[in-house]
Amino acid sequence: MKKAYVTKAQVEEITKKYPTPFYLYNEKGIRENAKAVKEAFAWNPGFKEYFAVKATPNPFLINILREYGCGCDCSSMTELMLSHTLGAVGSDIMFSSNDTPAEEYAYAAKIGATINLDDITHIEFVENILGKLPETMSCRYNPGGVFKLSNGIMDNPGDSKYGFTTEQMFEGFRILKSKGVKHFGIHAFLASNTVTNEYYPQLAKELFELAVKLEKETGCDISFINLSGGVGIPYLPDQEGNDIRAIGAGVQKVYEEVLTPAGMGDVAIYTEMGRFMMGPYGALVTKAIHEKHTHKEYIGVDACAVNLMRPAMYGAYHHITVLGKEDAACDHKYDVTGSLCENNDKFAIDRMLPEIEKGDYLFIHDTGAHGFAMGYNYNGKLKSAELLLKEDGNVELIRRAETPSDYFSTFDCFDFYKNLVKEK
Ligand SMILES: *Cc1c(COP(=O)(O)O)cnc(C)c1O
Repeated sequence: MKKAYVTKAQVEEITKKYPTPFYLYNEKGIRENAKAVKEAFAWNPGFKEYFAVKATPNPFLINILREYGCGCDCSSMTELMLSHTLGAVGSDIMFSSNDTPAEEYAYAAKIGATINLDDITHIEFVENILGKLPETMSCRYNPGGVFKLSNGIMDNPGDSKYGFTTEQMFEGFRILKSKGVKHFGIHAFLASNTVTNEYYPQLAKELFELAVKLEKETGCDISFINLSGGVGIPYLPDQEGNDIRAIGAGVQKVYEEVLTPAGMGDVAIYTEMGRFMMGPYGALVTKAIHEKHTHKEYIGVDACAVNLMRPAMYGAYHHITVLGKEDAACDHKYDVTGSLCENNDKFAIDRMLPEIEKGDYLFIHDTGAHGFAMGYNYNGKLKSAELLLKEDGNVELIRRAETPSDYFSTFDCFDFYKNLVKEK
């Protein structure tokens, strides 16, 4: 069963200073998990997790991960800027973007980030921008077809916009080598939110076999293999989570079967996990402000899809705990809604929950990754604060809530802006 990491009493205390809705992150959980990831891959001396900044772009949280040796995986200019500001330099930053604008490649190169190319045509594109290619470069691989594990099809790389084909990997490596690149990386992201210990080992096997062939046929020195993201979390209450130690051991086994015998036992393993690093350790806390009895039973809360888009966008399940009613019977069926003028603005549909009264606090689980980050401002709604529940039980503000002035700030070059700001 899923358990909230705060009590009703704690939330009542927090709301004296920070009104709902807010995101609350669990420092203890983040640290324990980051340590487990580090230990699971300790067999590989070059191992590095590049946290996918897009999942939770908050400097306070990323700094916690950096204590465990994590770098930053960036996909845009602002993510690069944020990571650089945190002190991540050079090989601490992986730039795994696609459809990349020229100025982003230029900035990535300037701060020494490792560039992971999404397409063979980008070799020339980057060369034209930089004049000379960096000594270390990586290419993203997409074998096409479907990605299958023993329990079925996991995802459909053949339909995905990312990466080089197999032939392009060989051609791309030859071209890069001819242009002076010395150290090579291979990257692939073939399935998303996989809740099975088999995903990384199976992906690793494919990439290791490709690496052996690439090194043999092109003579390129492959220095790292990046398994990227895709390691999932159990959103459903009865689902069993991944065991990162078993995953690390599974990757080690194929490493020793494929790479070591080929004389490639010095290849570093990289990962770019986002969801697995942060997902379970963040929650959206929101208050029930209305109940409505029409064709269905509705509970209206003070958060909406701009605070958490996953249910509206993917129909994603997020478990809900009604704080203070953890042991009450789930004998009421509700749609839990936000206030957007969109009927998909529902955090839960036909969900069995304890009877909810106005003023109850709802703890929406597993929103620590791709939660706050996906937020937007539709209906003129403002983004919430982010808070960190520290190991000592104190709460720290790690991002303030947006105010109307933030929302209006892109009008600041117009005359009527002064009146807008006065209005509040
Ligand atoms: C989104 C993304 C990740 C992180 O994915 P998770 O599913 O959160 O682990 C890693 N690498 C790249 C290139 C991505 O686009």
